[in-house]
Amino acid sequence: MKYYHPDIECASPETLKALQAEKLVRAVRHAYDRVPYYRELMRQKKVEPGDIRSLEDLPKLPFLTKEDLRKAYPYGLLALPLSDVVRIQSTSGTTGTRVVAFYTQHDIDLWDESCARAIIAAGGGKDDVVHVCYGYGLFTGGPGLNGGSHKVGSLTLPMSSGNTERQIQFMLDLESTILCCTPSYAAYLAEAIIQMGVRDRIKLKAGIFGAEAWSEEMRRDIEDKLGIKAYDIYGLTEISGPGVSFECSEQTGMHINEDHFLAEIIDPETEEVLPEGSKGEIVFSCISKEAFPLLRYRTRDICVLSREKCSCGRTLIKMSRILGRSDDMLIIRGVNVFPSQIETVLLRCGYPANYQILLDRVRHTDSLEVQVEMTQEMFSDTVKGIAAREKELVASLRAMLGISPKVTIVAPRSIARSEGKAVRVIDKRKL
Ligand code: ADP
Ligand code: ZN
Repeated sequence: MKYYHPDIECASPETLKALQAEKLVRAVRHAYDRVPYYRELMRQKKVEPGDIRSLEDLPKLPFLTKEDLRKAYPYGLLALPLSDVVRIQSTSGTTGTRVVAFYTQHDIDLWDESCARAIIAAGGGKDDVVHVCYGYGLFTGGPGLNGGSHKVGSLTLPMSSGNTERQIQFMLDLESTILCCTPSYAAYLAEAIIQMGVRDRIKLKAGIFGAEAWSEEMRRDIEDKLGIKAYDIYGLTEISGPGVSFECSEQTGMHINEDHFLAEIIDPETEEVLPEGSKGEIVFSCISKEAFPLLRYRTRDICVLSREKCSCGRTLIKMSRILGRSDDMLIIRGVNVFPSQIETVLLRCGYPANYQILLDRVRHTDSLEVQVEMTQEMFSDTVKGIAAREKELVASLRAMLGISPKVTIVAPRSIARSEGKAVRVIDKRKL
């Protein structure tokens, strides 16, 4: 199977646009009629459901933010009575108080199907063993890929996170072929597999990794270590979960499931909609969901959209990898720094993706320290050799960031691992 929904994934632009417009009109009416909180936002913006007749009218609608979700917590944005709702999930709380999202069975089905498209695009099918070690529970990673794998008809291994040795044992015994987890956990698993000396016995062919930002360098590193092809997958709880967009064989960005989620790029400062190809904050409108129909939801995730023809045959628009979250941008001595920039430098310089960024304020000045693990090969270096390496890294980081950090190279496996999203930044300025 090449596509899960070929008629949608490869639809002509006209067909897709007509479908989107029809669904958008319906979704706006649904939200306006059933969500008083949203109706009030539309009133404030002086827009009525009748004003939204085509896709071009989308910018007339107000934005929704995570702040709105927090204000309306828990039920204020729910569009159906609770008796129609079958599931609640919650965000990981990476950037503050967790928010919740609601699903009817129809919403779960469309989410599962979005993940099924991702699994098929990564080369999955009925004969695959899909090893899911995203966390299960309130976090959407586990349930999303689990549901997708069921729709595809693959054998699903609901491992959840944790217990790395058991993960590897099951991977060997049950011959897992597709691995689903965060990229940082995939990197950790890869190291453990190599260390256990079982690299030649694993049957993995692909990985579907998401839920946190990762660089191209990290992708190549995981691919080389595991001998697989690594695919990016993106999503957020508020919009449904993983599978909002997914990568195909071309590995140059993620196709957005546009029949369910309309995407716009805006300037996060001015809120102006930017033309295709511009870098900015991605905003989603859910046009198929029943229980939690967020429209123009500001994700704070920074990326670029492109409608360039894709060699996989899909016509769905693509978003680039996430270049940062506007809310994880660090302002250090007045300079904007994204953790992803630091990761890129470390991997380019031959270090593993095991690092931590420590921020503090000493005598009213911000200090930045980057701790990174040395590789096994560097372990035999002399103290002088390590000092020289640290100096080299300071220079490379300074060239990328425009500010000079302190660098400390630490022993292999000494930085705490996370089984879910990696904790990269410890900002003591806020503590
Ligand atoms: P939280 O915002 O608390 O982490 P979620 O668990 O819903 O909540 O995670 C969604 C967020 O995770 C997204 O908004 C995005 O910042 C990040 N994310 C998800 N998938 C990816 C990906 N493939 N690349 C980069 N970031 C991602
Ligand atoms: Zn493609």
